[in-house]
Amino acid sequence: MKECPIVEDLLPLYHEGLLKPETTEWVEEHLKSCPSCSALASISSEPILEDKIEPVVDHEKMMAKVTSKLTLYQLIFVGISFFLAIRTVIANENFGFILPYFILGLVIYLFYRTYRLVMLIAFLPVFLWFLGTMLYSIFQQTDPNNSVSMMIFDSLYGSFLMAGIHLLFAILGATVGLLFIKLKESGDV
Ligand SMILES: [Zn+2]
Repeated sequence: MKECPIVEDLLPLYHEGLLKPETTEWVEEHLKSCPSCSALASISSEPILEDKIEPVVDHEKMMAKVTSKLTLYQLIFVGISFFLAIRTVIANENFGFILPYFILGLVIYLFYRTYRLVMLIAFLPVFLWFLGTMLYSIFQQTDPNNSVSMMIFDSLYGSFLMAGIHLLFAILGATVGLLFIKLKESGDV
């Protein structure tokens, strides 16, 4: 029938009850006389009913998807943090890390809205990387005048300090992110 494509287009609105009474009447009139459209109407109304009966399943599925996506992003951020830490050590740029870590903290905060992750991602990779390189250089040295335990302590202290400085700028970035979000929210209201 000529009206079929029009009825097809109107079916979603018809199921949602968004059509004007006259249009609804017209669609119903057509459905009575057209077997193919009435079959389509009964099929297309089913997913909506399913959604209403089992919303929990869909919600859980969606959350699982979101969580795995977030985990992927976390891995990427950890990777970036490691890369930046390595770059700092190799290039020996004393203050080259400030801007990258500021931006890293800002981006992580905008994504996750939590300081905990900023701290974890900005601190831990730097700490481990510095500690690793420092310990490695200890075992390269064979100076008997240096006590190994003292050097290990120095390495721990030095790594902690370096990671702390990196973290400081990441937290500054995160705070800018926090302010940005607050400003945007107050602008929306
Ligand atoms: Zn039809």
